[in-house]
Amino acid sequence: KQQQRQPLIEAHQEAAQLYHHILMNTKLGEAARNYLQERQVSPEMIERFNLGFAPGEQVLRSFFAERKTDYQTLRKTGLFIEDQAGNLKDRFTNRLMFPIKNTTGALVGFSGRLLHKSDSAPKYLNSPETEIFNKRRVLYNYDVARQAARKAKRLLLLEGFMDVISASQAGIDFGVASMGTSLTEEQIYDLQRVSSNIDICYDGDVPGQKAIDRAVSLLEQNGNFQIGVIQIPDGMDPDEYRRKNGTAGLQKIVKSGREPVIKFRLRYLRSHFNFEQETDKIEYAKQATKLIATLDSSVERGVYLKDLATDLDFDQTSLQEQCEEDRRKQR
Ligand code: ATP
Ligand code: MN
Ligand code: MN
Ligand code: MN
Repeated sequence: KQQQRQPLIEAHQEAAQLYHHILMNTKLGEAARNYLQERQVSPEMIERFNLGFAPGEQVLRSFFAERKTDYQTLRKTGLFIEDQAGNLKDRFTNRLMFPIKNTTGALVGFSGRLLHKSDSAPKYLNSPETEIFNKRRVLYNYDVARQAARKAKRLLLLEGFMDVISASQAGIDFGVASMGTSLTEEQIYDLQRVSSNIDICYDGDVPGQKAIDRAVSLLEQNGNFQIGVIQIPDGMDPDEYRRKNGTAGLQKIVKSGREPVIKFRLRYLRSHFNFEQETDKIEYAKQATKLIATLDSSVERGVYLKDLATDLDFDQTSLQEQCEEDRRKQR
């Protein structure tokens, strides 16, 4: 099995080198170089993440044809699209390329980003599932983050590749991202091996909030973590936040912006109600006391019940009674 994998990994290494060379040293890479500069990705990060560019031309096909690489190997890399006659064409064209390593650090796939918005093609295109690339098992930057997380005693879970790179540029190397999908059991297992302290720092937009809610549940169900939430304000993602507030701004929010899960949950719940309506306020009060009732510390329950009473302008004592009743029911 290992013998079958090695040629595929080597083909990926060669492809990554070629894409990187095109990005750094050729006319074909000029637009992508400018794009990265506009997004304030430092040359150091371009090197560290070995970013590249796949131009419109059939560069991989030509490259591997010249090297006389075995056809069956090429087919299995997933780097090509095969037509009915069995001819191979480069899968990735006109995309900024992010090489993807598996948890042991072997180069097993790519994700490619269009430089410009398109209606006909997805913003990010990932490698297909192959003998070496299993999307469910991959965490971007895991091989570096595992070392950094052991030192920092915490992991940072981000939504996108650019967020991981942005964090790294701010000196935060313990960030990882899944491949734009919700967390899998396999990924959670690999996270747990590195640290039991994890902070979710997804995008501040509405899909990001939904994804945080889901990630919290998955981490609670499949692991044993202390979970925190870092809420990026104004609908931004961590990368946008860095560009607006500088690396110092991102460092600060990651260092001291950690909220307990209950705070996130209450805010997320609240966002589904319209406080103009009394019935909505009452329904929110009921669901919020249920959430607060799950807290084991009565001090903590007291704090959140007080906030809740103030927020709703409701009587605190009745909220407390409701919460105690919820607790009895939850046992
Ligand atoms: P960028 O900053 O480059 O626009 P992003 O990371 O902010 O990218 P989001 O739209 O927030 O992009 O999506 C988060 C992640 O989801 C991406 O990093 C990528 O892994 C994945 N993703 C986004 N769009 C797609 C897509 N069309 N197909 C597959 N994966 C996608
Ligand atoms: Mn997003
Ligand atoms: Mn984003
Ligand atoms: Mn982004």
